[in-house]
Amino acid sequence: MEENDFEQLLVCQDRKSGLKAAIAIHSTARGPALGGTRMWPYSSEEEAFNDVLHLARAMSYKNAVAGLPLGGGKGVIIGDPEKDKSETLFRTYGSFIDRLQGWYITAEDAGTCPEDMDLIASQTRWALGTTSSGGDPSPSTARGVKQGMKAALEHLYGTKDLAGRVIAVQGAGHVGAFLCRLLAEDGAKLVISDINRDKADYIAAELGATVVSPEEITEVSCDIFAPCALGAVINDDTLGRLKCSIVAGAANNVLKEYKHGYGLFHRGILYAPDYVVNAGGVIFVADQLESHDPERVMRRIHGIYDTCKEIFRLAEKDGIAPFVAADRIAERRMVKGSTENEAVG
Ligand code: NAD
Repeated sequence: MEENDFEQLLVCQDRKSGLKAAIAIHSTARGPALGGTRMWPYSSEEEAFNDVLHLARAMSYKNAVAGLPLGGGKGVIIGDPEKDKSETLFRTYGSFIDRLQGWYITAEDAGTCPEDMDLIASQTRWALGTTSSGGDPSPSTARGVKQGMKAALEHLYGTKDLAGRVIAVQGAGHVGAFLCRLLAEDGAKLVISDINRDKADYIAAELGATVVSPEEITEVSCDIFAPCALGAVINDDTLGRLKCSIVAGAANNVLKEYKHGYGLFHRGILYAPDYVVNAGGVIFVADQLESHDPERVMRRIHGIYDTCKEIFRLAEKDGIAPFVAADRIAERRMVKGSTENEAVG
């Protein structure tokens, strides 16, 4: 915690409901810590604590670069979302969140859904993304990723036009499927893969796209490789096999390690940093803290285009990789009292 400057780690246990959870607050320098709650069958408590700390830190960076007046936090519940959900589990978790008096604000993440947020919200006002407040943030995330892709195209080719661009989408889940539809509308040629073949086939049939196996997707010759499934997809194994000019997708923690970000940089592949392009969901959710304004949400999501362009410009000017430029901006903004909000630079 000291190494990465975390503020708080709350470990929650309740035998009656079976709840085992952890809430990490990385930074409240910009405001209360916002980040979703993940439910996952972690194999150990240590694994869960490591994950919640990593995820909370990433939220500080994401919220700072998105210009939100919020810090970064995250929650994890240890359990299988297919088998271990119950009303009491989420209500009990909600009462733990309430103890933090608004310094941690939750929403959905992998393994949780708007109905779970309803149960949490029955115990605390610090839960967003409930069924009555807008629901699934995935479409907003997909819209933001598309803006990031356009900024990367513009930076590389001088045109943000998606028509005729070949885009390889890894993962046809909530964000991936919506993103495919948005890209197809603009005339992109799609190559799709999902470990659940039915999901890939379904969306490909709808859009006239090509389906490839999960092993092949990282090797497709394309303009953009869009990771929309797991983290750590840019790793020792995949780095040398990529045949794309740009990497831009929804997945969190796309780079397995920093060295893989430098690897992309040295191969001349433009990487649009994950937490910059996938901020549409948190922008959508954070808006619920104000009076919800769909136009303002859309404007902020479109702002991801300008933010990415500015990051690419700064990176080029300083001769650094774009993910390093994004981190620098975030870290500058995480200094308590920083007033730098909307515009990058
Ligand atoms: P999801 O679970 O709905 O979809 C993920 C899809 O990826 C599933 O269909 C799954 O079968 C597939 N998949 C898993 N491993 C794969 C592999 N090796 N190859 C191909 N497909 C594979 O999740 P989602 O909500 O669409 O989120 C996708 C990614 O985006 C996640 O990393 C998530 O953390 C990140 N993200 C999501 C949001 C959001 O608003 N949902 C916001 C920010 C970031």
